[in-house]
Amino acid sequence: MAERSLPVVMPAISGQAWSCHSCGTCCRKLVGHLFEHEAARLDEQDWSELQGKPYVHVGGQTLLNRRPDGACIFLTDDNLCMIHAKYGEAAKPFACRIFPFSVRPIYGGWRVSLRFDCPSVTGSVGEPLRQHRGPLERMINEELPDRCELNESAAIGRGVRADIDELEQITARFTRWVTDTDRPLDQRLVGGARVTAMLADASFEKVRGSRVGELIDLLFDSYETDFSAPPKPPSDRQRGMLWQLAFAHAEHVTMDDLRANFVARFFRRFAQLRRAGRMRKGIGQMPRIPGFRRAPTFAEVERIGQATGDDATRIGELITRYLEARLQGWTVFGPGYYGWPVWAGLNAMWSAVAVVGRLARLGAAVEGHERVTFDDAAHALGITDRAVTRLRILGTMPERARIAFLRKDDGIARLAAENALTTPSFPTVDG
Ligand code: SF4
Repeated sequence: MAERSLPVVMPAISGQAWSCHSCGTCCRKLVGHLFEHEAARLDEQDWSELQGKPYVHVGGQTLLNRRPDGACIFLTDDNLCMIHAKYGEAAKPFACRIFPFSVRPIYGGWRVSLRFDCPSVTGSVGEPLRQHRGPLERMINEELPDRCELNESAAIGRGVRADIDELEQITARFTRWVTDTDRPLDQRLVGGARVTAMLADASFEKVRGSRVGELIDLLFDSYETDFSAPPKPPSDRQRGMLWQLAFAHAEHVTMDDLRANFVARFFRRFAQLRRAGRMRKGIGQMPRIPGFRRAPTFAEVERIGQATGDDATRIGELITRYLEARLQGWTVFGPGYYGWPVWAGLNAMWSAVAVVGRLARLGAAVEGHERVTFDDAAHALGITDRAVTRLRILGTMPERARIAFLRKDDGIARLAAENALTTPSFPTVDG
């Protein structure tokens, strides 16, 4: 046990529960990173029954090895972990034990966030989140006792970096907005995107300290009177860019990709770019997207209706929990989101929700549904959130330029409204 116990900041997500139900999704889909001492521990144990090495070194990283079907080499046929079964839970790698939580250092402590690529998280099944605090705190302080040096910060304007108190004000204000469930989901997404756009244009050189929160309050308070006009439908170009963004989120990196040599990586990238080009056009047959068992036509996807009834209610709750988790976990800006400035990161978050809407419709078309169901939305969110903050390409300059383009001409609000999945509350507006 570590000598000092550092505080752990858990996200307070209304109505969120979780317990592991041994579905094996994480063991099949994720690439498990190991600390060197964990690889050394595996070396000391007897793994003669495995069909390969327990771990591999790829690109300077030490990763749990995979079976030929892509699943973790330690996964049994009944979805259990061989390390857990043979040497106990504490012998499992930290990356496996902490999932579906992730953790980052903040000033003198640890900020926990929750991942939505676990079905028990999207379904909110299990014990209330607060019950996990004690075990998480112990695990983090045992495994990461002195790795807490980061000074969390992110830009809020040209040459202006927010301090921790200002970041708290920003996340608290946006959390209050997204969790105000008296307001329909599409209004919360549109309002959030429009306030973000206005803040991105503001100058923060003289607006510091408590005035940051006051400015955000002022903008949200004037939503009804000043900028709640129904968004126009997105332009073809905006829709095409969103399809490309959805494609980028779904292109997960596999162990084979990590192991590929330069030539293989070049051809893979070339094929990706061709498929991304077809996504932007948005007509005819869609290219195959990882995570979906067939590729429908774009027209099939466009015919899918919005969710209704219980599905709509549950999707609204799911997206609300997701936004709350992102904001509370600070996976929206700065070190929590590729080092991006606050407003660019918030724009990426609203865009990611629109991506979920696109992918949920795609999933519904693949499954032959007439309308989006809760399961379609949960599957789409799992695919999207697996990429967010983990897929390197999403943090690159071209992606930042794409988000900046989408922000223009009310683009993110227009896409958010069209892809909100639940019953639209805005009156229809011609394009
Ligand atoms: S995906 Fe979630 S429920 Fe499934 S095995 Fe992993 S942690 Fe457990």
